[in-house]
Amino acid sequence: MNILPQQFHKLVLHWFDRHGRKHLPWQQNKTAYRVWVSEIMLQQTQVNTVVPYFERFIQQFPDLSTLANAHEDEILHAWAGLGYYSRARNLHKTAKIVMNDFNGIFPSDLRKLQTLPGIGQSTAGAILSIAFNQPAAILDGNVKRVLARFHGMTQPINEKATENQLWALAEKYTSTQRAADYTQAMMDLGATCCIRGTPHCDICPLVRYCVAHAQGMSAILPVKKASRELPVRSATFLLIQHKEKLLLTKRPSTGIWGGLWSFPEISGLPEIKMIRAHCRQHLRITVSEYKMLDSFRHTFSHYHLDIFPVLMPIQHMPPIVMDDSLQIWYNPYHPESIIGLPKPIQLIMKKL
Ligand code: SF4
Repeated sequence: MNILPQQFHKLVLHWFDRHGRKHLPWQQNKTAYRVWVSEIMLQQTQVNTVVPYFERFIQQFPDLSTLANAHEDEILHAWAGLGYYSRARNLHKTAKIVMNDFNGIFPSDLRKLQTLPGIGQSTAGAILSIAFNQPAAILDGNVKRVLARFHGMTQPINEKATENQLWALAEKYTSTQRAADYTQAMMDLGATCCIRGTPHCDICPLVRYCVAHAQGMSAILPVKKASRELPVRSATFLLIQHKEKLLLTKRPSTGIWGGLWSFPEISGLPEIKMIRAHCRQHLRITVSEYKMLDSFRHTFSHYHLDIFPVLMPIQHMPPIVMDDSLQIWYNPYHPESIIGLPKPIQLIMKKL
């Protein structure tokens, strides 16, 4: 297998001209702002899931300054359901930095882009190539898969040394002329042709030169170092209800659901007398009635969380015991304001 970089990107671009996706919302009215938002949303998330979120997000925050001036809760609310909420918080931080330090103009420089929160090398490459047509390489999951198969790489792609080799290949093949189309083409090739599992080699523009295909290994490559099984944790969510309102607390800005609103919680599933004692001590609330609701599992990237919601109606609303920017009484039926709620919290509220 011998292929020159210009042959490689010629084949890929020719395929893109005929079969690539050209009607995605972020491909229209292309600006650095829209490309950046789409790239952040597309991290760890499939195109079909991202499209409606992107359209709503852009409608609500049409430009950098609207996003920079928005309240974090509005942004987290718009993000609810996409997961990995640090992405939303980083979007907000980056919007503010670009407004304050770059006069509201998105930097078009790889090094500067990578200093912004949430923008790593691949995302910076995608922004530079798609928005500015600069020949910057990307190496997202799709591109890794295509290149690892194309070169028949049998070493785990989640090892640093392999990743360095893949970066070198990605840079070698990047088109200098049609950088934006090439980046989009490689993403599309990985998403529609060189897919996970068994790829569609019969319709792949690279099939003549592909090592994995020639060696009958396309369905088993790339390999990854086995990841350990996810641990299971559990938490009891305290749904303290006064009339239609529920007590919510704001989560710390780091960690899971950072900065979003959630129910007070206790780790594990303690006995009811422990739950009552916790409410008395930490929330100054005396609980008499209670009802265990259906438990369910929510999976994060690094662990499973078994959630046990317990509904505890109370007759008298106690005073807020924390700073009221950290604790609120929230009416899920008639919300008074937009707040960021994680998807599992929304699901519990819908079932009440
Ligand atoms: S020939 Fe098959 S395995 Fe090789 S790059 Fe194309 S789709 Fe992937």
